[in-house]
Amino acid sequence: PINCEPLKQLIRTVPDFPKPGILFYDITTLLKDKAGFAQMIDAFAAYYIDKHVDLVLGIEARGFIFGPAMAYRLNAGFVPVRKPKKLPAPVAKVTYDLEYGSDSLEIHLDAIQPGQRVVIVDDLLATGGTMQATVQLVRQLGGEIAGVAFAVELDFLKGRDKFPDVDVYSLLHYN
Ligand code: IMP
Repeated sequence: PINCEPLKQLIRTVPDFPKPGILFYDITTLLKDKAGFAQMIDAFAAYYIDKHVDLVLGIEARGFIFGPAMAYRLNAGFVPVRKPKKLPAPVAKVTYDLEYGSDSLEIHLDAIQPGQRVVIVDDLLATGGTMQATVQLVRQLGGEIAGVAFAVELDFLKGRDKFPDVDVYSLLHYN
């Protein structure tokens, strides 16, 4: 696999965002770097190119940054997984717990044909709750998970442990 470690220098950390005590990993400083962005998409493409991917699913909103570029390179389709009430046709919906309260995600019921091989992408793996909910949606629709992909993984939160039977691939790790 391509070594993306040097790209860490392009990620900006912002203390106390969005709340006091939280250190936010801001990838916009990496995205605007033309070599950095290309290297991320190259790394994702290299990893999945031989895994027979039919669809790339992006999780709103930052999964939309990577998903379409990956889909193009993998000769796959792109499917948006959206916040509630955004998709116009009939949807499947999943609700998951947050630290305070809950959140929901939706996907069009006809977005995945049973047996299609799916990679789900988001910018960052923290506790894994968001991705776990999306994996549930894919399985509800009969999709097969070829893998879940992240630009950044916060290893110390152990989100990876929520996916014992799914291949988890992250470009950059923080301990
Ligand atoms: P999880 O569900 O706890 O894994 O949180 C991951 C979700 O929260 C992803 O959709 C991320 O975009 C977002 N998120 C959490 N922390 C950060 C961060 O430090 N930087 C960027 N996004 C974050």
